[in-house]
Amino acid sequence: MTETHLNHIAGEWRPAAAGAVFEDRNPADDRDLIGAFPDSGPEDVAAAVETVSSAWPAWAAASPEVRADVLFKAADIIARRADEIAAELTREEGKTLTEARNEARRIAANFRLYAGEALRLNGETYASEAAQIVFSLRQPVGVVAVITPWNFPLSMAARKIAPAIAAGNGVIFKPSEVTPLMGQRLVEVLLEAGLPPKLLALLQGRGAAVGKAITQHPGIDAVTFTGSFAVGREIARAVSTDTRLQLEMGGKNATIVLADADMAKAVGIIERGAFGLTGQACTGTSRVLVARPLYDALVERLAAAAGKFKVGPGTEDGVQMGPVATRGQYDRILSYVAIARDEGARVATGGEALRGNGDARLAYGNFISPAVIADLPAESRLLREEVFGPVVAIRPFDTLDEAMVLADETEYGLAVSLVTNHLPSVLRFARETRHGIVKVNSPTTGVSLNAPFGGFKHSSNQAAKEQGGATVMDFYTRIKTVYLGG
Ligand code: NAD
Repeated sequence: MTETHLNHIAGEWRPAAAGAVFEDRNPADDRDLIGAFPDSGPEDVAAAVETVSSAWPAWAAASPEVRADVLFKAADIIARRADEIAAELTREEGKTLTEARNEARRIAANFRLYAGEALRLNGETYASEAAQIVFSLRQPVGVVAVITPWNFPLSMAARKIAPAIAAGNGVIFKPSEVTPLMGQRLVEVLLEAGLPPKLLALLQGRGAAVGKAITQHPGIDAVTFTGSFAVGREIARAVSTDTRLQLEMGGKNATIVLADADMAKAVGIIERGAFGLTGQACTGTSRVLVARPLYDALVERLAAAAGKFKVGPGTEDGVQMGPVATRGQYDRILSYVAIARDEGARVATGGEALRGNGDARLAYGNFISPAVIADLPAESRLLREEVFGPVVAIRPFDTLDEAMVLADETEYGLAVSLVTNHLPSVLRFARETRHGIVKVNSPTTGVSLNAPFGGFKHSSNQAAKEQGGATVMDFYTRIKTVYLGG
């Protein structure tokens, strides 16, 4: 029997007002129905906003220790249940069990980080005439809407919900419709940790319906969104001018292999960045720019490495790459491989649909072999557009100047990595590139949870950096300046 899941509104679990549901299936085997979830709409949004609006002032007035305590407890619960949650994450999103465990453990660390932030929400005092003291108060924004993607359904949500709560806000959380169960698990953990039940609403459903209704609701004070540029732009148009907005969007990240690079090291770095998480990371490596003398050898060695990648259900031992998360993404990725061929590029390896290729393990899932694409024309779409799958496009360059131009030749500006020991080139790149994250001798993926995260150009609206760093709480708080006279 299909398990039917519920929204969490006004401190109770309930179905969508209209009673509609949508299905959630395992991307490694689409016969496996995970459950049915509420297909919410504007009525559910109205009910959620009403209760969260009335609940947050009391939470904001609670002592910082109380807020920190809930987040520390939530971290302990997640750490205890990491394996169980990871198994569900693999079933719902497709990533390998190792990748899923890393994500589950990471959110425990995230919660601890933001628990600390609750205790560090400081204002400042300012030089003033003797008869008064001028100081700033840091206060919550109010009702924060959290809209998240499916690729890191736990960590993207945790790094928004936890700082929002730490600062004393109430939260309306809309997880991706691809990973509703992970959204529900996160809410369950926070409630079990003692969060006031009316402070956090969970609204399941489709972006175009409930997502849109949230962004248009006048009672929302801030929207923090991670997802595609197309949707981010739509949200920016939908919200009112006094709604605070944070947009973290796509990437077209490049690894740049300079002439002095060690070939084996470069291949290892690119493999991890391009095919880890099935290429479905916003910081995933989807371009490689390589010094021309190394080009042929790199294409050959990377293709050989990709050809050995073990693709299969994320639950199987030894599998390095799980399925793509949705059938829509599967079709889209394959269409990009076809575009590359049409453009005259050479598919050095992979890019094949593995569904129905005779292997019973792969017959019902969104499995694609990792692709290495070479000899692309300069204007190729694969060098500019986000594919969001295990497809890497390689292009040679002749000079560092040219590499710098090529690296920035996309509308995105999230992560770039360099493989080199040549310090002057690294320093120049780090200063001049229009990317928010610059990595040296490591993949474009993989970031420290306590460091600022965000991109330039279409990757981020630069409202405030996410994740860590001195300004991370700026998005979730307002500053009020007080002039205290005697
Ligand atoms: P998406 O933009 O399709 O959806 C993201 C979320 O927005 C989902 O919850 C969706 O339901 C909701 N949504 C869709 N339409 C909406 C609307 N009109 N109004 C309000 N909400 C709406 O993205 P996705 O396919 O879930 O995720 C993949 C994308 O996310 C990629 O572009 C990837 O680069 C990006 N991403 C970025 C980061 C980052 O930190 N920069 C991290 C992970 C993923």
